[in-house]
Amino acid sequence: MTRRKPPTPRREWAYFFDLDGTLIDFAATPAAVRVSEDLRLLLTRMYRSAGGAVALMSGRPIADIDRLFRNARMPAAGLHGLERRAARGTVTRHRPPVPAARMERVRRRLAAAVNGKPGLLLENKGLALALHYRRAPRLGAYAHRLARSLLPVLGGNGRFCIQRGKYVVEMRPSGKDKGVGVEEFMREAPFRGRLPVFVGDDATDEFGFAVVNRLGGVTIKVGPGKTVARWRLPDVRAVRAWLAS
Ligand SMILES: [Mg+2]
Repeated sequence: MTRRKPPTPRREWAYFFDLDGTLIDFAATPAAVRVSEDLRLLLTRMYRSAGGAVALMSGRPIADIDRLFRNARMPAAGLHGLERRAARGTVTRHRPPVPAARMERVRRRLAAAVNGKPGLLLENKGLALALHYRRAPRLGAYAHRLARSLLPVLGGNGRFCIQRGKYVVEMRPSGKDKGVGVEEFMREAPFRGRLPVFVGDDATDEFGFAVVNRLGGVTIKVGPGKTVARWRLPDVRAVRAWLAS
């Protein structure tokens, strides 16, 4: 049962925020999203008042997060936890479990398939490959079939997995997810010992919710849909209003 209104934010908590669909509204393509000065200021204020215990948890690479939040360089988990920048600034990267040549082979196959399908977008994230169909939702089933059919090229044995999301299907290395990312942050200062809060809107955030629930923290799902989160907010605007409180 999802209770409606989450408890008021407290400065002694540790915060984990998804970006797209949680703090930022979706745009036609991932590159087209805009971060307002208001949001930058809001996050900077939270980061200071929570003693630095604020981490951005995204499917985007960290370089992309830094492009959106110029000069912020907050703790962050990128590529669903495959890369992580700790509070002290050091970045760790999960090593790709398959040869670059195989990744390139799959990338080429996807690029060729996308070429003849307007509205389908291939995003090469380096360690992961994502097919976006936000501009052509009817191509969703095709995109999922394509990703599943190419997964064996990246190796069976669960070395890679399919990560589904809103109008996106992604092939990414297994072993890390946003839940693992939360656990890693929670072992380190300034997160350690605090009550964790996770806010997210998509399937990849459910891993974060599960870990934070286990730690007795606050989990907030943004928007409709099935979730293990204990609270819910309707949209990005409501998340920002909640943070401003
Ligand atoms: Mg999201």
